[in-house]
Amino acid sequence: LEREEPSHFGAGPAQLPTKVLQQAAQDLVNYNGIGLGIGEISHRSGDASNVIDSAKANLRKLMKIPDTHEVFFMQGGGTTGFSSLATNLTAAHVGKTGSTGTAGYLVTGSWSAKSLEEAQRLGIKSEAIFNAKDFNNGKFGVIPPESAWADKLKAKEYSYIYLCENETVHGIEWPKLPTALTDSDVDIVADLSSDILSREIDVSQYSVIMAGAQKNIGLAGLTIYIMKKSILENISATSLDQLRQLGVPITPIAFDYPTVVKNNSAYNTIPIFTLHVIDLVLRQILEKGGVAVQQKDNELKAELLYKALSKYPDFYALPVAKDCRSKMNVVFTLKKEGLDKKFLDGAAAIKLTGLKGHRSVGGFRASLYNAVSVESTKKLAQFVEAFASKNA
Ligand code: PLP
Repeated sequence: LEREEPSHFGAGPAQLPTKVLQQAAQDLVNYNGIGLGIGEISHRSGDASNVIDSAKANLRKLMKIPDTHEVFFMQGGGTTGFSSLATNLTAAHVGKTGSTGTAGYLVTGSWSAKSLEEAQRLGIKSEAIFNAKDFNNGKFGVIPPESAWADKLKAKEYSYIYLCENETVHGIEWPKLPTALTDSDVDIVADLSSDILSREIDVSQYSVIMAGAQKNIGLAGLTIYIMKKSILENISATSLDQLRQLGVPITPIAFDYPTVVKNNSAYNTIPIFTLHVIDLVLRQILEKGGVAVQQKDNELKAELLYKALSKYPDFYALPVAKDCRSKMNVVFTLKKEGLDKKFLDGAAAIKLTGLKGHRSVGGFRASLYNAVSVESTKKLAQFVEAFASKNA
């Protein structure tokens, strides 16, 4: 079970630490010497409960999650989160106030746009507080200043305000939560699918954190939720009749947050192997010294790569404004036409893989998730410089 250490910059599913995968592979065959693999046991068995409890406890430790917040896991990914957040959070608002309110979305890239689309497709009363495209000639690439949109928050009753902390496709990251939100009492709902555990955050500022697992945390198949307990109570305070009367779609039972929490994330069959991999990743970050240590590495990696690209401004284009450039997904293009394939082939020849940009954006995207090493990033930065000097 050996492999050469990869330098894979794919946007997800992402490279994971080799040691974690080796342990997981062993546990898939014979977990803790029980003579069965971890994926072969009942999700209600003691061993499975231990995995769930361990992953919860380790996530709590790493993210310093306060007692005001619950942690749970659900089948699915970011996209299942888009729909379950919309229905559950609207139900929570009904439980709290008796009315649906309006869900407000800060649209900074394709994932927040898709999340809003899904809320609207389901018939949830929702709207964009702003669409960042309107501030950048019809393209994603900036986050508008708060002064351009903060007043809107006062205009009506918002059930929650949604943002995607790191837009994986476009390489745009909120450097911190906007003060217009943190200074107000509005519920902040955030998609952290591509930046969870990449940097330290203050969990108490968020009402809900949702993150698909397949980038910084583990394998595809599970979504992590960190949520204020009061939201769960508010959802439970509604009745199906009340929701039907108000035209709020009923959440399918497997995605009903209070039901999932009451059953310790095992209302239905949780993919326990996937959760075990998550737990191994969490333990690996803890051993390494925690999120602060990981953050330092990630900052160094992003600096190395952006610096290399910025050294050749006539050759590489960086489409994202400096103040919101993602440390996780570095998006760039070549200014000269006809060289894209040569760039990818040259990188692949020295085993730098996963660099092709998203089909909707083109160019290149280097994802620098937690498991990508500083060494791999240095190698990429050197290649970026060498390619520019040879082909400029
Ligand atoms: N949100 C973000 C930030 C993402 O990067 C992605 C996928 O890359 C999603 C949501 C959608 O996740 P999934 O493919 O698990 O539905």
